[in-house]
Amino acid sequence: MKTNSIWLDTVKKPISYKQLDQDLNVDVLIIGGGITGMSIAYHLQNKGLHTALVERNKIGRGITSKTTGKIDYLQGLKYTKLKNEKTAHLYLKSQLEAINILKDIITKEKISCDLEQTPSVLIAQTEKEEKQLQEEYIFLKKENIPVTNLSNREIKVENTFHFHPLKYLEGLKSKLTIPIYENTNILKVKRHNDYYLCYTNEHQIKAKILVIACHYPFFLFPYLFPFKCYPEKSYIMAKKGVKQKENKITISHPTRSERTFKDYQLTLIGSHKTSDTFTIKENFAPLLNSNPDYIWSNEDVMTFDSLPFIGHLKENLYIATGYNTWGMTNATLAGKIISDLILKKPNPYIALFDPHRSNPIARITYLGKTGKEYLKAYVKPKTTKKLHYEDSKAIYNNNGEEIVVQKRCPHLGCPLIFNEVEQVWECPCHASKFTKEGYWLKGPSKKDITIAKTK
Ligand SMILES: Cc1cc2nc3c(=O)[nH]c(=O)nc-3n(C[C@H](O)[C@H](O)[C@H](O)COP(=O)(O)OP(=O)(O)OC[C@H]3O[C@@H](n4cnc5c(N)ncnc54)[C@H](O)[C@@H]3O)c2cc1C
Repeated sequence: MKTNSIWLDTVKKPISYKQLDQDLNVDVLIIGGGITGMSIAYHLQNKGLHTALVERNKIGRGITSKTTGKIDYLQGLKYTKLKNEKTAHLYLKSQLEAINILKDIITKEKISCDLEQTPSVLIAQTEKEEKQLQEEYIFLKKENIPVTNLSNREIKVENTFHFHPLKYLEGLKSKLTIPIYENTNILKVKRHNDYYLCYTNEHQIKAKILVIACHYPFFLFPYLFPFKCYPEKSYIMAKKGVKQKENKITISHPTRSERTFKDYQLTLIGSHKTSDTFTIKENFAPLLNSNPDYIWSNEDVMTFDSLPFIGHLKENLYIATGYNTWGMTNATLAGKIISDLILKKPNPYIALFDPHRSNPIARITYLGKTGKEYLKAYVKPKTTKKLHYEDSKAIYNNNGEEIVVQKRCPHLGCPLIFNEVEQVWECPCHASKFTKEGYWLKGPSKKDITIAKTK
């Protein structure tokens, strides 16, 4: 059993880029080389702006490398959950447009990324959900979507897809001619006169326009993103033996989501706030019991109104995040929306995804529920038979091997926990991940958690 995503295992010889080795002066700097940053770079290319992209790790090795890669507008009970019909109508339109943009790029650039058209099925499991399913069905019907009522518990739509997300990014890479720097970590951003100064350990980049495409928006303290969104985690497996071709998803939370890739069946389960559980192995258990070929977990940024934050923040600063686990469509849209904003072109979705919007009631309710848990865990972290804390150290007994790292995440100081299945340290608050030895893997922490480094 491999504890990595099937995408990382099946993408051949990725194109690589050098690390930044000099100071730079650009019109636009994109921070982050996942599907968001790469989509924005694609739309800004050849538009008369000197654009560069920096990636802390390797392109596409963040959340995008561990997605399920559905390209879908049937996103659970999405449309009847949004605040009103007008919003639902516009969001549906945006997702259909995103699917067309993605398909057009794949066709135009001849990207070989295992794109497959497949129907999508939404499943109810209880009587209450049956009613909700019918409301979603009526909405889709009214919007002239070809939707079929398979039974009281299943509706099906057409014109949905899935693909290999990393092969898609490889295709984009091969078409991008802008400078791209890998292993280039932006540690600090400062506004100076009418430009931004972005610092790595050794160099600085001066940019007139800055785009934050780094998934969790950790630079933006004035905008209080840690209070406007939260990470949600899910568990995925790939197992040989295809059961059905459709994309499937349940209404219930935690969600169950399925798709196929070649002769593998992919299944996602779980879906909980990262702060909800400290026993990661238990969450993997149902998947582990099916003896999978691949198993992994992943986190996405969720918002309180189920809509992403894509747009302009202030003084030539742009952001795209909060896709609520629908990043293939929404990152593709972000590419178009942010490039349109920078190029001063109109775009119908600017108001819908405005990153300034706030949802104070949902935020207060959420903080009321989780704040206490965070605080408790922060002050007196939970221990298990295998994990305990001593002063500033976290100590995990990994089947006899003692692993010692810093107790607290360098981002905001939350106590770290060990993920036994993937053999990584994780922050339950904002989903930073570190290797067993304590080296940064992903997420908002800027530093490692190795003990040697802290001495
Ligand atoms: C379990 C799960 C299943 C999902 N399934 C689907 C699906 O089926 N369909 C769908 O549409 N969406 C799905 N999603 C959502 C989707 O995968 C994500 O929303 C999307 O991949 C996010 O892309 P991104 O480019 O914003 O982030 P990332 O891919 O994480 O890219 C951000 C990049 O920024 C880099 N970075 C961070 N900080 C810095 C820094 N300081 N300096 C330089 N670089 C930096 C990171 O290294 C990273 O490579 C799923 C999400 C999860 C969690």
